[in-house]
Amino acid sequence: MPLKAIVEGETIIGPDLSEEEWTKLKSRHKKGLPIRMGCCGAPGHLRISKKGTQHFYHAVDTGCNYEEESREHLEIKYQIYRICKSENWETSVEFPASDRTWISDVYAIKDGRKIVFEIQISTISPNNLEERDKKYRNEGIESYWLLDNFLERSKAFESWYYAHLYEEDDRLRETIPYIDNSIFDTGPENHIFIAKGIRSVGLNAKNQTLFTTNNPEIPLAVWVREVLKGNYQNYLKETSVTYHHKRQTKILAAPLLIQFREFYQKIIRETYRKKVDSYYRIFKKDKTLREEKTLQKKFDEIYSETDWLGKEYHSCIAESNGLFRWKKIPEYDKPRPYFRLESELKIKKLQECVKMFNQWEASFNSAFSNLEREFLADKRRFEE
Ligand SMILES: [Zn+2]
Repeated sequence: MPLKAIVEGETIIGPDLSEEEWTKLKSRHKKGLPIRMGCCGAPGHLRISKKGTQHFYHAVDTGCNYEEESREHLEIKYQIYRICKSENWETSVEFPASDRTWISDVYAIKDGRKIVFEIQISTISPNNLEERDKKYRNEGIESYWLLDNFLERSKAFESWYYAHLYEEDDRLRETIPYIDNSIFDTGPENHIFIAKGIRSVGLNAKNQTLFTTNNPEIPLAVWVREVLKGNYQNYLKETSVTYHHKRQTKILAAPLLIQFREFYQKIIRETYRKKVDSYYRIFKKDKTLREEKTLQKKFDEIYSETDWLGKEYHSCIAESNGLFRWKKIPEYDKPRPYFRLESELKIKKLQECVKMFNQWEASFNSAFSNLEREFLADKRRFEE
């Protein structure tokens, strides 16, 4: 429902008229003074909403979009308009672009800063939102979308965000180990801003209140003032900077963490350990073979080396070492280690760890092949 009409060639904003002016206009209109709608120029009439907001409505259904605007939409639009004006912003409502490709709900200018507020109560597709926002961006206008309960599209916005976050995993074709992705968890306004650069806020149209990730109920007036002061935009930007920093650290750490896990799986848990164990079982079962003192010594050595490497691994991954944080998550019974994506310094330290393990692995490899060669030769010799 529009707040704006044209009377005798002049644009009038309903709520701006005093009660007396409004009554006067109404009686003149009754006597035949034409009123044209500000949105489409169709004939219109005057009316007062339940909450007392003076506004206009189309005399006949012309198919104008503004006819479908709800009462809530009208009230919120009027509130925002009023607050912007009281903060000394040059403000208009239902403001059209020069080429009429958009009409914004509230448009406010001050010191070269241009802001639009868009109240979106009816559903709009994420792509449509992106397209409409682009029009404002192209004209250097700061746009803010009040999305009614995020239009029940939080999942779509979340998938924009996580597609962005997991780009690197997709590129590496695997999930990066030791990453606690819950540190990236946040809410829809940040998802939308980080993935698409669109400024939005959750709207509870019924109560005329707003909400964000950390704040379940913000009075409309408080939020609008924060927007005008630039604080809301700063909040979105700061969250985005923090996210990008963490993501960048994750990308840097990814190849190192993958190597680190490979090392663990190869030496500590799986491949080598199992091979050594299976050779040792054969060795122990065979009466003649187990008399081979040098071979026994080699087994002892390789076992002590594996134990030592295991200890090194565990001290590297221990909470006290400062590189990993142990955390219990619902999917697992026991706490698990997660790399601290905190600073470049941690990455450097991890790099040193991985470098060291690579050297140890090389020397372990040669000791193992040595043992394997001798074991197989002895085995063959005794079998003959
Ligand atoms: Zn219209």
